[in-house]
Amino acid sequence: MKFDEIADGVFLLAHPVFKVNCVLVTGADRAMLIDTLSTDEQARSLRDAAASVTAKPLTLVNTHFHFDHTFGNQTLAQGDIWGHPDCARELTERGEHWKRVWQDEIEDQELALAVGAVTIVPPNRLVDKQASVDLGGRTAFISHHGRGHTDGDIVVRVDDVLIAGDLVEQGAPPAFDDAYPLEWPDTLTALMHTPARIVVPGHGKPVDMAFVEQQHADLTRLDWLIRDGHRDAAPTERVAAASPFVQAFGEDGLYQSLLAVKRGYAQLDGA
Ligand SMILES: [Zn+2]
Repeated sequence: MKFDEIADGVFLLAHPVFKVNCVLVTGADRAMLIDTLSTDEQARSLRDAAASVTAKPLTLVNTHFHFDHTFGNQTLAQGDIWGHPDCARELTERGEHWKRVWQDEIEDQELALAVGAVTIVPPNRLVDKQASVDLGGRTAFISHHGRGHTDGDIVVRVDDVLIAGDLVEQGAPPAFDDAYPLEWPDTLTALMHTPARIVVPGHGKPVDMAFVEQQHADLTRLDWLIRDGHRDAAPTERVAAASPFVQAFGEDGLYQSLLAVKRGYAQLDGA
């Protein structure tokens, strides 16, 4: 497992489990590591991979609260862990609840046990809207653009690379378990104005802005299907079946679209 340089001083490690992307940005004074994987063992191998690139101290970022992006914090933290206040709140107040939920969802028993053994360490540097972090000779810009994949997604831009977390998904449908399908399109609109040439999704291969624009179009289509369906009291299954993510991803797309429709209906009902 190793980091590959995808831009000047920006390195990507795609972990085989869940294809999670971890990004390492090196500066003259410190390095920034964005997302920390699911278990102590995974985080140790991530730390070894980072050490082969840089000896600088690591500043961590969590793009959102999900375990595959945050549960390596206890192993990797050397001080600052940047995250949105809602990410910190979910992990601080409901971390043990989420741990049980995620353990039940993981089919691999060994992995489920390792996830259950993690001591949750939430972000300690909170960014509501935006923050800039001086890495020495270069700056990482952290920002939150509204709700989407979760209530507290943040992105990081360094030069012309945008690390988007699960707001952008390549090779699989966007995940709606904790998402806000009626607000996600507007959040992506804000990202589309970012001056970036390379976009690193939370999972899958790096993409360009044209890919983000297509995902925005698909999310917008789903948003309107949900609003129309809710107005007409259409069954959730029928609305989900018309989702653009079903055409692209079959069963997985249908599963995620159904989650989206249910969450969208609940929001329109004021829940
Ligand atoms: Zn996620």
